[in-house]
Amino acid sequence: MPELPEVEVVRRGLHRHVAGRVVAEVEVRHPRAVRRHVPGAADFAARLAGRRFEAARRRGKYLWLDLDGGAEAVIAHLGMSGQMLVRPVGAAEETHLRVRFRFADDGPELRFVDQRTFGGMAVAELVPSAGTLVPAPVAHIALDPLDPAYDPEAAVVALRRRRTELKRALLDQTVVSGIGNIYADEALWRVGLHGSRPTASLPPAEARAVLAAATEVMTEALGEGGTSFDAMYVNVNGESGYFDRSLNVYGQEGRPCRRCGAPIRRDPFMNRSSFTCPSCQPRPRTA
Ligand SMILES: [Zn+2]
Repeated sequence: MPELPEVEVVRRGLHRHVAGRVVAEVEVRHPRAVRRHVPGAADFAARLAGRRFEAARRRGKYLWLDLDGGAEAVIAHLGMSGQMLVRPVGAAEETHLRVRFRFADDGPELRFVDQRTFGGMAVAELVPSAGTLVPAPVAHIALDPLDPAYDPEAAVVALRRRRTELKRALLDQTVVSGIGNIYADEALWRVGLHGSRPTASLPPAEARAVLAAATEVMTEALGEGGTSFDAMYVNVNGESGYFDRSLNVYGQEGRPCRRCGAPIRRDPFMNRSSFTCPSCQPRPRTA
């Protein structure tokens, strides 16, 4: 599943390849891809014909394309396997092509390809949030650590205000957005904290450290994600490219901890898994 660094790679590609271009025609190939656009596929297509994409933007794992007029955007959810591909006109169709945008300049098309169809697109109204305009479904999402307006101290306060466990708070998109299961585990390992530590008793210095580690690991992943890029291929999502990241704990069950050598353990966590070093990240006694 794409996390913040992967979505940012997609955003950069979209901004570079489709911002400033006028949509000529939209073809919805699978109605499920626009199920979040309540008025339906025909309305989605009709509303976008003749409109210009102004910019590609992101908050956390939410991605959108601003439309001319400044009141609406096309929001895109990549889901588990969504891809945004920029392809030459006439290029062979992908098996799982869901939505195709043709442009008035007859240049490369934008194709939304999604094998598992958990992703989708919708036209959404822009509303004010944190000093900017964002699509209405994004308004409740906190700023992410890569946002220039992100305030680390405000994030520390929000994290410690939650009455929950540390990892759950890190994944809470209303505290800080964009941190998913992989980067939460990596950040916790870097600072030697167990995810079941209660946030209420977490010292501010530790909250600050884990948030800084999350920012650091996502920034590093973004640096790696930016390398597999060429002019015609906006990004590969959910494919092998994502998993060559240098992960210290995530998916490393049984392997020696790179810091102390203890075998990494896996525990069930919210229908997924948590990976920790039992020595570097002691579980709190009360948990
Ligand atoms: Zn260790």
